[in-house]
Amino acid sequence: MTEREPMTQIDGEELPRTYEVRTFGCQMNVHDSERLSGLLEDAGLERKDEALTGEVADVVVFNTCAVRENADNKLYGNLGMLAPLKRERPNMQIAVGGCLAQKDRDTILKKAPWVDVVFGTHNIGSLPTLLARSRHNKQAELEILESLDVFPSTLPTRRESVYAGWVSISVGCNNTCTFCIVPSLRGKERDRRPGEILAEIEALVADGAIEVTLLGQNVNSYGVEFGDKLAFGKLLRACGQIEGLERVRFTSPHPAAFTDDVIDAMAETPNVMPQLHMPLQSGSDKVLKDMRRSYRSKKFLGILDKVRERIPHAAITTDIIVGFPGETEEDFQGTLDVVEASRFSTAFTFQYSKRPGTPAADLPDQLPKAVVQERYERLTALQDRIAKEENAKQVGRTVEVLVTEQSGRKAGETHRLSGRTTDQRLVHFSVPAGAEAPRPGDLVTVPVTGAAAFHLVSDPTTDQYSLRRSRAGDAWDRAQAESCGVPTPGSGPTGSKTNLGMPSLMVRG
Ligand code: SF4
Repeated sequence: MTEREPMTQIDGEELPRTYEVRTFGCQMNVHDSERLSGLLEDAGLERKDEALTGEVADVVVFNTCAVRENADNKLYGNLGMLAPLKRERPNMQIAVGGCLAQKDRDTILKKAPWVDVVFGTHNIGSLPTLLARSRHNKQAELEILESLDVFPSTLPTRRESVYAGWVSISVGCNNTCTFCIVPSLRGKERDRRPGEILAEIEALVADGAIEVTLLGQNVNSYGVEFGDKLAFGKLLRACGQIEGLERVRFTSPHPAAFTDDVIDAMAETPNVMPQLHMPLQSGSDKVLKDMRRSYRSKKFLGILDKVRERIPHAAITTDIIVGFPGETEEDFQGTLDVVEASRFSTAFTFQYSKRPGTPAADLPDQLPKAVVQERYERLTALQDRIAKEENAKQVGRTVEVLVTEQSGRKAGETHRLSGRTTDQRLVHFSVPAGAEAPRPGDLVTVPVTGAAAFHLVSDPTTDQYSLRRSRAGDAWDRAQAESCGVPTPGSGPTGSKTNLGMPSLMVRG
């Protein structure tokens, strides 16, 4: 059990201490940040968003990433900005966790001695204790573990969305891609037991979620730790049995381990969505070999063919790295060819940059920035064209959209709301005059009337628009009312945004 936080005194009034978690990096980090928020709320802190209030919280936690270029500059820049504030407010605490903390350890305290706590990727559950210890001992606390202490999903969570949730099924990775720091920072793959995962999903659904994304660094190798090669497909099928769960997604799979039984499970399980994120990284077999990615472009394209044969409308997205050491113009052309053939709906494209600690950082033939930039621009131009063409093919289709809280940049002018189709495309849609507006979490069925490279548009007539109010919309209503202190039916005696992810361990209050 964590220690309760002391109160802050303002004008003689005792207020709970506030916290903010600032997240850099991948979805794994976003999910870990939900756990950090849950832990801090369990310890009695209240969330405060600087962007909304203009004030920095009493406890600021940086959840860092070591994968992207300049990750350390970004962190130290942010820490530098907090230094004067920390001098003014000595009770304020700053904590740094995540991959960069796991990697840099005491370097963080040397470079930014005003930091109070440094914790690693394997011990996020210790954060409240470390904060309390640092406050008590009046000195910085550094704790980095080499392997997992508690599986992160058994820690309390403050979910960012009431209608959708992330569920970690594994952490770590047994692959050794030469550009990636994950294996050395997150360790070998650790798999959760299926029963535990399904119990967490059921708890999320009971809490109002209708969409779940299964998360793992190498999600489809799930089962390797307990020796079941078919475990991931079985898990997808088991998700299909959960009543009330309407949308199941997963990220990120690895092409080498992507087997036909998983494609069958996707095709045959109605709530597994027709969408697949399949990281290509490079279309050149030589570069794939240098990256130590064990599939080749032919196998990659073969997977896409099989997926599309079984799930004809599947939208496929990818990750690509441009300018890996030794990449020739011919290698790069290989990437362009595979991209042209793959017809991705979206690609997350990255310029290769040296990450200290990765094998690729020591490879010869690092490419000049100008070459990488020029190739990158050619790749994004090609992919943008394809995305636009693929989205244009959606015009005229009728789609079911799960309404999200965020609206598009132009929502003020267009009065359109936003949501995601089953294949995860972003749709900005208008509600016809006189029709009932959806709540976030509700589902609308609308025709696609327009398309751009990164979104679809729908301006339906009254006849073309239909709304399905969902349990997730009800949960959103409840969460809104709770945040104003209004009790609502079904919110329980002491409704809480924090859950422990297990039905038997639900925390209320
Ligand atoms: S599969 Fe490769 S890129 Fe992905 S986490 Fe493992 S080592 Fe990194």
